[in-house]
Amino acid sequence: MTASSQLVEPFDLVIFGGTGDLAVRKLLPALFHRFLDGQIPASSRIIGIAREALDDAGYRALLREALVSICDAAKLDVFLQQVFYRPLDARKDDGWDDFAGFIGAQPDHIRVFYLSTSPELFVDICARLGHYGLNQGKSRVVLEKPIGRDLDSANQINDAVGKVFSESQTFRIDHYLGKETVQNLLVLRFGNALFEPLWNAGHIDHVQITVGETLGVGHRGAYYDRAGALRDMVQNHMLQLLCMVAMEPPSSLAPDAVRDEKLKVLHSLKPIDDSNASQLTVRGQYRVGVAEGASVPGYPDELGNTKSNTETFVALKAEIANWRWAGVPFYLRTGKRLPSRVSEIVVTFKPVPHSIFHADAGTLKQNRLVLRLQPDEGVKLWLTIKHPGPGGLRLRHVPLDMSFAEAFGVQQPDAYERLLLDVVRGNPTLFMRRDEVEAAWRWAGPILAAWTAGGEAPRPYAAGSWGPSAAVALIERDGRTWNEDSE
Ligand code: NAP
Repeated sequence: MTASSQLVEPFDLVIFGGTGDLAVRKLLPALFHRFLDGQIPASSRIIGIAREALDDAGYRALLREALVSICDAAKLDVFLQQVFYRPLDARKDDGWDDFAGFIGAQPDHIRVFYLSTSPELFVDICARLGHYGLNQGKSRVVLEKPIGRDLDSANQINDAVGKVFSESQTFRIDHYLGKETVQNLLVLRFGNALFEPLWNAGHIDHVQITVGETLGVGHRGAYYDRAGALRDMVQNHMLQLLCMVAMEPPSSLAPDAVRDEKLKVLHSLKPIDDSNASQLTVRGQYRVGVAEGASVPGYPDELGNTKSNTETFVALKAEIANWRWAGVPFYLRTGKRLPSRVSEIVVTFKPVPHSIFHADAGTLKQNRLVLRLQPDEGVKLWLTIKHPGPGGLRLRHVPLDMSFAEAFGVQQPDAYERLLLDVVRGNPTLFMRRDEVEAAWRWAGPILAAWTAGGEAPRPYAAGSWGPSAAVALIERDGRTWNEDSE
């Protein structure tokens, strides 16, 4: 156990969608890592639920395959003894009596119901959990994204879940908030006297948030084509990151203190609607190109629908109308089939007001704080220094590496490790409150409406490029460029 890892209270964690991609690829490995670190009590149970007719042994065999590379088989076998499976259909009553009895056998345990299924099932699952009284006591429900596809559908889900679980029992997960770098952003901002005095329109030139994926839509085509990049990435993950950068200092890390401040940011976002969407947003769709050295098909071919108008890329310029941020653009950019898989926040400071250096010394560059969420989570502060050694005074731009993971020899935990145990502990600080989800939809809705009303198809871009040229023009119009973390 590391210094920070403490045993949590005994719990039963039920994963609806226990055989799905998210559960097998992310949730179970995260739980296994926490088990290896000694945080999971021996009486705790992890229960997978899906319709597939498996038994405990069948489910354990499926997971063994997925987890075997993490650790030696003996430890995995011990972990798997705490894992169970119940075949259930969220939409049918068969088997729910038995399941309720199985959960009821450990009445003192914290109960976590993780809904890792399509959101269409959330209402049915919660209604049945309520019917069988499983929402009582120390019960919590975790909702995976997407929570709706617009404000109305988000409200329908939240209303239905709210009939069974109170707001304090409801954990809306955004795994970006569990990333080490995002928490480090909180510590950098509020644990140092250095940054906060500069953290405003007087000193910051602009902020960029990029979330790039190299993969195409793959087998998620049916879901993705109904969503698109704005709903899939911007409305949730990217706005949450923007809030963490832009919020006022909360009075403490108490869940509502942090979430109240994030909500104020969402309320302060300047509207983007049909009056300005064409200037402030760019939507794109990838076409045939080269990704990771291989030729790949375009989105319409991958999807099998040449008429799809769904965007696989968005770039936009957001502004926050308050005293701290007036006039500071936040450029957001996300897409599939981009040249690299990267998530980063770049805070660019204003240039020095006057250069005292001779032109031969080289160009002065603006300071940048780069928070990289993936790959290689880390923080770099780009500074200008004198090039060391003789040869006159020459300027050099170098990064100060502020991610001490290597120095401390710490392996960065996956975001789900932190967040799953936060649910068990009952700490919702890093989860979205209902009003945040609503405020985010209130801002994103008019953008979607403007695109629909405008009737323009997304701009094509070659797979393996950084999106349509209009995305470059969006930022270059303001005399700025998208970040390239090379200098
Ligand atoms: P998936 O691979 O399609 O898995 C869906 C799971 O739900 C399967 O276990 C499926 O098993 C089960 N299921 C379907 N219908 C059911 C029913 N009527 N009753 C009980 N179980 C049912 O989906 P996923 O990729 O894991 O994603 C799950 C959710 O997480 C989605 O909302 C997705 O948007 C979200 N999410 C996924 C990822 C990711 O990386 N995959 C990331 C972020 C968010 P059976 O068919 O056997 O019932």
